[in-house]
Amino acid sequence: MSYCSSDKEGKSIRPSILIKKIKRYFPMIKEESDIISKEYYVTNKIATFDDAILIYRKLLDGEEISDEWKTVLNYYNLVEKDKFKRVIKGIKYSNKSEKISEKNIEKMYGKRLKTSISRLEQYRRCPFSFHLKYGLKLKEKSELKMQTIDTGTFMHEVIDEFFEVIENEKLELSIITDEEIQKIVEQIIEEVLHMSKYYVFSSTAKFKILTRRLKKVVLESINYIVYTIRNSRFSVLGHELEFSNNGKYKPIIIDLQDGKKIEITGKIDRVDLGTLGDKNYVRIIDYKSSIKNLDMKQVEAGLQIQLITYLDAISKQENFEPSGVLYLGLIDTIYKAKKNMTDDEIKNEIRKKFRMKGVVLADINIIKMMDTSLENGVSNIIPVALKKDGEISVSKSNVIDKEEFSNLQNKVDKVIKEISAEILAGKIDIKPFYYDKKTACDYCVYKPICMFNPNIKGNEYSFI
Ligand code: SF4
Repeated sequence: MSYCSSDKEGKSIRPSILIKKIKRYFPMIKEESDIISKEYYVTNKIATFDDAILIYRKLLDGEEISDEWKTVLNYYNLVEKDKFKRVIKGIKYSNKSEKISEKNIEKMYGKRLKTSISRLEQYRRCPFSFHLKYGLKLKEKSELKMQTIDTGTFMHEVIDEFFEVIENEKLELSIITDEEIQKIVEQIIEEVLHMSKYYVFSSTAKFKILTRRLKKVVLESINYIVYTIRNSRFSVLGHELEFSNNGKYKPIIIDLQDGKKIEITGKIDRVDLGTLGDKNYVRIIDYKSSIKNLDMKQVEAGLQIQLITYLDAISKQENFEPSGVLYLGLIDTIYKAKKNMTDDEIKNEIRKKFRMKGVVLADINIIKMMDTSLENGVSNIIPVALKKDGEISVSKSNVIDKEEFSNLQNKVDKVIKEISAEILAGKIDIKPFYYDKKTACDYCVYKPICMFNPNIKGNEYSFI
């Protein structure tokens, strides 16, 4: 008896169930393998076609082929002309995007490129996905599902509303009690949930449970935010501040080399200000629904340029000194408390989990203004640790000095110019980034359109 161990292309295949049975009935049976390596044979018209294509591929790769196969290829080119041409076209396919013409670029974006930093970041994630999303404006069908963006927007709205209540009712964050905070937050959540865009949160039992969890996360996050403000000599300058023609700040205008301009609009979650001597120090805070840190490699690659750009723009427009960019994670903190821990100790551990990430100015006076309770050890508020003598522990902190801030801002400025020039030149390469085992394709909805496949010649990642 014999059976195939592999198919025509060499992929292994499983033998029939009968083989298994026979081996069981006759345990002494001997099984031998007679695997032959793949060679190409000219047999009949149908079976030889696939081999002829593989041989053609070798020819394209510069390998020598025999006269016999040259004759076979000529034969198919003659008698199976259409089929042969179609398959050859497939072999030569490289899945590369073409440049968009200047005329069409102008139709899509107008004379002045009006964009946002997150769009520029998207371009660096993958130029082709940027083109599909913002050039051709292709949208996914909307589905009833709780997406991260929905929960993120929900939490942002509640926080924004909380600060508005504090301001309108002239409440003092330094003396407000936990019970008062809870009451205000619960009331806001109820109101926000009644907005029609959040109907999904009350649509099914599953979403109701998720909503309950979300309420807990928002309340804990706001408690932490109040804690960070109480323990700081920075005050909140504003929430959801816009860079736009009608916003608090003017749009960011960047001049490109060829005389073209780009106009950047956007919104900052929070801006804080602290005064020392005759100088005003500004820091930007971004609320995130997951834990995020500032990664210098991603900043330089143009994947994380938002906060630095905003910090630079505000500093220049208002003549402030830049002092930090921070991410505050709106997260579900679970802490496994040890026996005999007091409530205050548990609270303290939870605060550590919330500690903001990012980078701050390497100036001990500014650091102490950002965390007034910090004497030594690790701060619960900013990514800084102080040594026993009160000096900054550089190895355990994320700090940069004034000059490094300025260098970083110059680098980001250069990256923005590069990206904008590429967009306006019509470059829409299918080139997703690859960094730290993550790629732009991981959650991309455009996979069925771009057909990116790193195994196809010419389809490559942009490695960071
Ligand atoms: S799937 Fe990958 S290559 Fe294709 S558009 Fe999305 S990010 Fe770009």
